[in-house]
Amino acid sequence: EAKQLGGNLSCHFVEQMAQDYQRQVQLRNALQLTLDRNGLEVHYQPIYDTQTRAIVAVESLVRWREDDGNFISPAEFIPIAENTGQIIPLGEQVLELVLRDIHEHPQLRNLQVSVNVSAPQLQRYNFAKLLQSRLTHHQIAPDNLALELTEGIFVGEGKTTIASLQALRDLGCCVAIDDFGTGFSSLSYLNRLPADVIKIDRAFTAGLTQDTELQAVVKGIIDLCAYLGKKVVVEGIETEAQLQIFAGMGVQRLQGFYFARPMPLPDLLKLLNN
Ligand code: C2E
Ligand code: MG
Ligand code: MG
Ligand code: MG
Repeated sequence: EAKQLGGNLSCHFVEQMAQDYQRQVQLRNALQLTLDRNGLEVHYQPIYDTQTRAIVAVESLVRWREDDGNFISPAEFIPIAENTGQIIPLGEQVLELVLRDIHEHPQLRNLQVSVNVSAPQLQRYNFAKLLQSRLTHHQIAPDNLALELTEGIFVGEGKTTIASLQALRDLGCCVAIDDFGTGFSSLSYLNRLPADVIKIDRAFTAGLTQDTELQAVVKGIIDLCAYLGKKVVVEGIETEAQLQIFAGMGVQRLQGFYFARPMPLPDLLKLLNN
């Protein structure tokens, strides 16, 4: 009987795997069609100065709308695009959308506008060179743009990555480490990172209000960043209580649903005009 149960379990497991695989193939094919017709969009989420409560930066986030009008989450399709190599054209299209928006809307020129960049974009070709030529084409100052990279980029080809980050900074762009604290977080490499901004992952924000030990850890990271001359952004602020805790810790910039959700450009422009 035990054997039969085991057999059923593994059968269920294989079935699940087959379904996941099918969904991935389906998404990959659908994404390709969207890429072929330049059909992706970007939304923007404001980032606020803790003291003045002014919008000082915005993060661009890719949006993929299926034929039925529903959005598919980037958390689902970005990993697929990274595996298939589609992240390369996807990244180029997102960059182009964002640079065009900056070019067309002077309000965006006083802000730091960030673009998320995946590891393969840095590792597979000369991203800095592409960036430079697109910035020049759109007549955009490099310090108008920030690039957000996760700690995942340091797994494996560490040396290449430090060099490619440095190349982005040499261009004059801002480099931010995204989701800090979730990857292989070693504080010992923080000082060697060619990064201007550290974005503390929202996993910390969520658990923080109840947990004084975690607060001490996060405060330590924030102080260390200040000592190293790096700006800190905290992601995922959803409540006034979280806002107060991080303001008290001296964090300069805050981002989260409490302030504003990601929104289409027209909504952002309205918000900036108020
Ligand atoms: P991320 O770069 O860390 O972006 C922040 C994510 O957290 C966004 O999800 C945003 O909508 C969400 N978020 C912001 N504030 C809050 C909050 O207060 N509470 C909660 N629960 N969530 C909040 P989104 O847009 O679904 O993107 C997910 C991830 O997909 C991004 O995480 C990023 O890693 C990736 N991604 C998005 N756009 C791009 C892109 O253009 N290129 C690449 N390579 N990756 C992207
Ligand atoms: Mg990001
Ligand atoms: Mg993040
Ligand atoms: Mg994140």
